[in-house]
Amino acid sequence: MFATSAGVIYRPDPVYDFIIVGGGTAGSVLAARLSEKENFRVLLIEAGGEEPWMAGIPLAAPLLQRSRYDWQYLTAPQKRSSEALVDRQSAWPRGKVLGGSGTINYNIHMFGSPHDFQTWESEFGATGWGFPEMKKYSNKAECRRLRPKLFKDQCTASGPSEQQQKSSDGCGEGPVKPGPSGHIRQPQDAVQCYDPPLRVRTSDSPLTEAFLSAGKELGLPVGNLNDDIDYGVMAAQTTVYKGRRWGPTRGYLRPAMGRHNLHVLLHTQVTRLVWDENRAVGVEYVQWDNPRLNGTAYARAEVILSAGAIHTPLILTYSGVGPRDVLKKFNIPEVSSLGGVGGNLQDHLNLPLYVQLQKPVALNPAKLRTISNLWDYFIHGKGDLGRAAIEGVGVMPVAHSQPEVGVILFNMGAVDSHLYSGISNMKLDVKVGLTSLFFLLRLELWKRNRQCGHRLLRSYSLTQSIILLISSSPIPNSC
Ligand SMILES: Cc1cc2nc3c(=O)[nH]c(=O)nc-3n(C[C@H](O)[C@H](O)[C@H](O)COP(=O)(O)OP(=O)(O)OC[C@H]3O[C@@H](n4cnc5c(N)ncnc54)[C@H](O)[C@@H]3O)c2cc1C
Repeated sequence: MFATSAGVIYRPDPVYDFIIVGGGTAGSVLAARLSEKENFRVLLIEAGGEEPWMAGIPLAAPLLQRSRYDWQYLTAPQKRSSEALVDRQSAWPRGKVLGGSGTINYNIHMFGSPHDFQTWESEFGATGWGFPEMKKYSNKAECRRLRPKLFKDQCTASGPSEQQQKSSDGCGEGPVKPGPSGHIRQPQDAVQCYDPPLRVRTSDSPLTEAFLSAGKELGLPVGNLNDDIDYGVMAAQTTVYKGRRWGPTRGYLRPAMGRHNLHVLLHTQVTRLVWDENRAVGVEYVQWDNPRLNGTAYARAEVILSAGAIHTPLILTYSGVGPRDVLKKFNIPEVSSLGGVGGNLQDHLNLPLYVQLQKPVALNPAKLRTISNLWDYFIHGKGDLGRAAIEGVGVMPVAHSQPEVGVILFNMGAVDSHLYSGISNMKLDVKVGLTSLFFLLRLELWKRNRQCGHRLLRSYSLTQSIILLISSSPIPNSC
């Protein structure tokens, strides 16, 4: 009747080793990695359902926004900004589906700014989360510099060659076989693989070429922002493979689903953590948004919250970890008073800028609908539909040589003004674009038609915001 993929269950066991809350980008990776250990029993809980087939078409990403695969958040009406938006509210998409926002996003593959990692580590005490440490994991996800093809052909077909046995880039010592997800753990904490969990495509269209020459003309470095340059311009790298979205589910979770030790519970929203004194030992959940379909599952080792930037602090707050005044206001028993929970939410705001092109190199509905394009895509996995919407990415230093402003070249921005207005909540008659008052935004998010659920966020300055509860019930429409 409902989802039938291997590993999907309808009622969880009472106890697991790990419970992962949120099957989005982070949750998919965690579930896949943890369940590599056969003696770990892992439960992944996701509020949404399985990804629709359409989500695999990279250019279909905008169609998933404001759909049932999106939590469909809107900001509260703004007093001093957002005049171009319907009711002065910004749309704030967040994936509510297996793969989370990674299933509805635009596939840009971009590692974070080294400066940010450095700041988190040096100023905020996130020891071990610095740039070099984290970059190792990004390289691991891509099997970078490991000559994947050579490795696959020579290691799995006939065992390692003599030369590879000596080389640290080759098959390693002795014959090695890939694990269930294609990953091979080696000594020295290195993972070599023939089948990278992340597949990355580099754009090479005429639009990309024009973007790179424009950067060069401006004197900006042209290279790979994920590797050799910190700022400048690069050809877009996107997580697309053979014309299909290569998101966190495709790369990580799907190959792991069906392992006997991984259970995936869909359409299930975790409402609160269960505590043993101040240790989280389980979760309470509600299925299908129906408060009567509720239950509790326990974790022997850890409960891991990976419910995204909005829901993770919400779950914590409903569970008694949050600002004291909020807990008091909603009669939530305090487990730990932490004023920072729900604070400092940041997002990148897009300021669209349309340009007219002299050559017909951009995408439009007529081009996408041609028989040859549809044939190319559905038969050969090629053609415009199989491209992501992004052709170039730039990072511009604006002050103190700190990379701060991002530029993204879309190939399809003007495809459909109704669609664009719908997903951005922009008024259809707006000609000038969004107001430049973004930097003065004071945001408040809540779920439309779900006022009894929770109000999510209010910003104080720039784009830093806080998440606030407006009700004591984490489940919409239950109050
Ligand atoms: C429209 C859009 C475009 C984007 N484009 C890009 C891009 O091109 N490149 C890029 O790198 N990034 C992009 N991003 C950002 C990127 O997708 C996110 O940063 C990333 O997916 C966040 O991962 P996450 O695991 O923290 O959260 P998510 O992927 O959002 O996952 C959280 C999951 O938790 C689930 N959940 C929430 N609450 C509960 C609960 N109580 N119980 C159970 N489950 C719950 C949600 O349904 C969701 O599936 C984009 C995001 C959006 C929305």
